[in-house]
Amino acid sequence: MIGGRALITGASSGIGEAYARRLAPACDSLVLVARRIERLQALAAELAPQCRVEVIAADLAGVEGQARVVEAIRQGPALDLLVNNAGFSTLNTFATSRLDDELAMLRLHGDATLALTRAALPAMLEKDRGAVVNVSSVAAVLGLPTVATYAATKAFLLSFSRTLQAELAETGVRVQCLCPGYTRTEIHSRESFAGFDVSRVPQELWMESAEVVEESLAALDAGEAWLVAPGEHNRAFMRDSLRALAAILDEPAGSESGGSQ
Ligand code: NAP
Repeated sequence: MIGGRALITGASSGIGEAYARRLAPACDSLVLVARRIERLQALAAELAPQCRVEVIAADLAGVEGQARVVEAIRQGPALDLLVNNAGFSTLNTFATSRLDDELAMLRLHGDATLALTRAALPAMLEKDRGAVVNVSSVAAVLGLPTVATYAATKAFLLSFSRTLQAELAETGVRVQCLCPGYTRTEIHSRESFAGFDVSRVPQELWMESAEVVEESLAALDAGEAWLVAPGEHNRAFMRDSLRALAAILDEPAGSESGGSQ
């Protein structure tokens, strides 16, 4: 089981909060990061009997917030686990999107993950131990309309994780790309996602944050594959999408689905 010191971004709700709750009994210290400081403080107070908890209020879509968390990683004791989880989605066609929101998402999912991971790795490599979990999404490969930037940034995390784990394969540092599907959290009720009708998603597709986190940490503990999609239905969605993507390569040039590209 993961122990020691873990830093979780987006720990004020949803999947990040579930990581914090699951890890608290096993860790010596947790560092919880998000913008809503009062949520982080309440969680820290609740978890305090189980382990030491620090909170950092930071907007990770901005350079200043990223820099403060990077500094905390560099100055503090080496991390055993970094969970790059903070995220959000917009809901619109890209042509009608607000570019500022799309760029903020790119900075949060992309820049913040790179900055925090780059800050954490040297100390992990020095100890030859540790893990980085990048929370991506099944959306990384599904090609669903209305979430173009979200899907692209999640695909970035998948590709980055794949290559990073290959670079670190001979070390004691593990990388996991976690690809959840529909998970009951606040992401679907945020303003940026207005218009999404949760009632249209079939009940059987929903998972709880705790289940998602359980699969992530179990796979990490077992030293299983770097790519984890919690729930058989999500693994099936990803398999089908990746097969469909591969099939495009075999289509004759000029066919409808883009074989001519
Ligand atoms: P959530 O309940 O809305 O949690 C998102 C977390 O990210 C919150 O703690 C939020 O905290 C934090 N966050 C958002 N913007 C931030 C910013 N600019 N700076 C710092 N922290 C920020 O949603 P969730 O579903 O748990 O999302 C967690 C991750 O799971 C995301 O990366 C999401 O893409 C991924 N995911 C979710 C689902 C799903 O169906 N729920 C499916 C696939 C992947 P503050 O608002 O307090 O800053």
